[in-house]
Amino acid sequence: MAAEIQPKPQTRTPVLLNKIEASQDVVNTAVIIPKEDGVISVSDDRTIRIWLKRDSGQYWPSIYHTMSASCSCMSFNPETRRLSVGMENGTISNFFVYYHDIVFHNCVFFFLAHQGKVTVVLFVLEMEWVLSTGQDKNLTWHCSESGTQLGLYRTIAWVSGLQFDVETRHAFVGDHSGQVTILKLEQDSCSLVTTFKGHTGNVTALCWDPAQRVLFSGSSDHSIIMWDIGGRKGTAIELQGHNDKVQGLCYAPHTRQLISCSSDGGIVIWNMDVTRQETPEWLDSDSCQKCEQPFFWNFKQMWDSKKIGLRQHHCRKCGQAVCGKCSAKRSTIPLMGFEFEVRVCDSCHESITEEDRAPTATFHDSKHSIVYMHYEPTTGWLLTSGADKVVKVRQTRPDTLAKYNCF
Ligand SMILES: [Zn+2]
Ligand SMILES: [Zn+2]
Repeated sequence: MAAEIQPKPQTRTPVLLNKIEASQDVVNTAVIIPKEDGVISVSDDRTIRIWLKRDSGQYWPSIYHTMSASCSCMSFNPETRRLSVGMENGTISNFFVYYHDIVFHNCVFFFLAHQGKVTVVLFVLEMEWVLSTGQDKNLTWHCSESGTQLGLYRTIAWVSGLQFDVETRHAFVGDHSGQVTILKLEQDSCSLVTTFKGHTGNVTALCWDPAQRVLFSGSSDHSIIMWDIGGRKGTAIELQGHNDKVQGLCYAPHTRQLISCSSDGGIVIWNMDVTRQETPEWLDSDSCQKCEQPFFWNFKQMWDSKKIGLRQHHCRKCGQAVCGKCSAKRSTIPLMGFEFEVRVCDSCHESITEEDRAPTATFHDSKHSIVYMHYEPTTGWLLTSGADKVVKVRQTRPDTLAKYNCF
């Protein structure tokens, strides 16, 4: 007798756990406090708030601290409970956080790090550094204990992505020109290692996975590039799954997933356990590499063969230069990072099997325009802050859902 298999009910994650709606203005950065059922937020409304979950199931601010200027960014270290907040006026303020109270760090305080808004702040415990970038196009690092400036590097454009590898002391700096600069930082100096150029728009977010030595960059050109540094082969894989500017990137090491979000509210969860291929270079040709009809600038062949010149297109799979007629079909190519349908030539279209088309990412709608995203790996919680002034907390791991009574 054949056993009857009952399909398991599918839980669609991420599941919305909570909404935090009391901010007067957009929350520029918010982080989940692990083990405390709490959230720290900094906002344009000049406040730093610590929200704790009450018995009612709602988050209420237990701490509400008003600053002298808008708070543009922050960095929080849960182990040391150290909070560094970057502000519109160029100042970085440092606190020790007690969840029912917020107190200024007993010896360090605040220091002027930039002329103009602080765009990213990053506290590095191991080095006792506060790394920051500002509207003044400077990358600076300060001693987190004394507040003394240790070093400065002039970037070519505004920076909106900053990551640091403690082991090698490399800083990854993503800027509005679209490039990522890799610097080796010393105590009081730095040297340029290399630059990564691949985006056609601003770099808007960076995420570094130190275990596999992979850097992810997100851009206003809607794409994400995975720069495989650990692989040592110069592989750079493009991930196309957003319809708008990428706003945040987080890597979930337990599930080997990359989580990305965009300003149209899209959240994409990428399975990074699959091996993806690089997209081919686009080939140059004066005529279609399939039917040999001339492209429109190829006057000689047009004249000789009495044919009308055609527009050049490129097959995303093989990179060949083809005419519209020879590339009329579209397909997703998930193993090349194309989760959306793209132009392919007829022969490539035939070669792509149903199996090849199996998506390697899942797509979700956060239902607000995302300005910031944070992922907490121990709980699997994902936080998004929206242009609608609302912060949403979601659970991304179905295994831990039952605990939170979400059904
Ligand atoms: Zn053709
Ligand atoms: Zn092709």
